[in-house]
Amino acid sequence: MQRITILGATGSIGASTLDVLARHPEQYQVYALSAHTRVEELAAACRSCRPARAVVGSADAAARLAALIADLPTSVEYGEQALCDIASSADTDTVMAAIVGAAGLAPTLAAARAGKKILLANKEALVMSGQLFMDAVREHNATLLPIDSEHNAIFQSLPAAFGRVPAAAGVAKILLTASGGPFLNRAVETLGDVTPDEACKHPNWVMGRKISVDSATMMNKGLEVIEAHWLFGAPADQIEVVIHPQSVIHSMVSYVDGSVLAQLGNPDMRTPIAHALAYPDRIASGVAQLDLTQMAALQFFPPDFTRFPCLALAFDALRAGGTAPALLNAANEVAVDAFLERRIGFRDIDRVIRHALDAVEHGPAPSIEAVLAQDARAREAAAHAVASLH
Ligand code: NAD
Ligand code: MG
Repeated sequence: MQRITILGATGSIGASTLDVLARHPEQYQVYALSAHTRVEELAAACRSCRPARAVVGSADAAARLAALIADLPTSVEYGEQALCDIASSADTDTVMAAIVGAAGLAPTLAAARAGKKILLANKEALVMSGQLFMDAVREHNATLLPIDSEHNAIFQSLPAAFGRVPAAAGVAKILLTASGGPFLNRAVETLGDVTPDEACKHPNWVMGRKISVDSATMMNKGLEVIEAHWLFGAPADQIEVVIHPQSVIHSMVSYVDGSVLAQLGNPDMRTPIAHALAYPDRIASGVAQLDLTQMAALQFFPPDFTRFPCLALAFDALRAGGTAPALLNAANEVAVDAFLERRIGFRDIDRVIRHALDAVEHGPAPSIEAVLAQDARAREAAAHAVASLH
């Protein structure tokens, strides 16, 4: 029996995880669930999985949750320390890290330091703290399995004993596929007017609002380039973004002998979730088998960096190193929030990020405290830029 903690149980990834787990009650038991504000949804999840612990974001949310599940054996807690506790408890084996944004860093790191099996959806945590996070995984013998569909596909296309040295495994390039999001073909001059709902209408995936906007700007792919760098040890020049609007090939690895290995499947996050949960075994995920004969043509082309300036900013941040990716991530979170709240336009997102990157000088990232200090500075600079645009 594998005991699981789900950080971010009420989100899109959290819901898909609960769906896969419910198909295999004899193999998995939910130890703890977390949510930030969606107390009713968390109560419903507690009712079906009966976890030992549930964590929410505030005392008020905890009181509401406790009232809703007073008849259950679940203990209710709140706050960041409680998140770290359920991620590192001796009573859990596996942690699904599915909180969105920088808020997921502390509990995901706590899971790494406790040597857990981590199913990583929360790419922002890795982008912010890359080296420190990977060091913690190694030092504490944690297992890190990628949930992001592209990274899960790359992981599946690499040799089993891959040691994060691409050259040693004969890897020439990592080919990171990207759908291009909802605005791939929209006239560039109309992008300034798009609404949050239009930006969140992804052609192939149903996801949380922050990652949906990131997909529309292609910052999501930029964060994934940085994520791939840390997960697979590949330098920026060895990671190539390929636009593939159908999202059937989830990414590829190109080898020095000319072979290209890919992972394909219907676009449904339950596949990478089931893969990582059962790894190295396989379990059913509820996803329909891919029928290639029903597939329209699969297309591939290079990204347009002028249409998607956020992708270029992310490559620059990866090459700059140190705290540059953390600054990029923090500024992006502020800009996306402001866009979702209609305080800035879509085309202002990259402007705000660029402003923050110009205003705050990046430096080395010797500790999490240093990263968080830079994160705070970038948020301040980005908020300033938002206010000046507003
Ligand atoms: P979502 O917005 O649907 O859910 C986010 C979850 O995080 C919710 O459970 C929410 O309660 C929790 N949360 C939000 N703010 C919090 C805070 N301040 N403190 C604690 N918890 C908080 O997001 P999602 O689409 O499920 O994405 C989750 C993560 O997975 C993101 O990092 C995203 O980039 C990544 N991811 C998602 C998908 C997808 O298909 N949805 C694919 C790949 C990667
Ligand atoms: Mg992805």
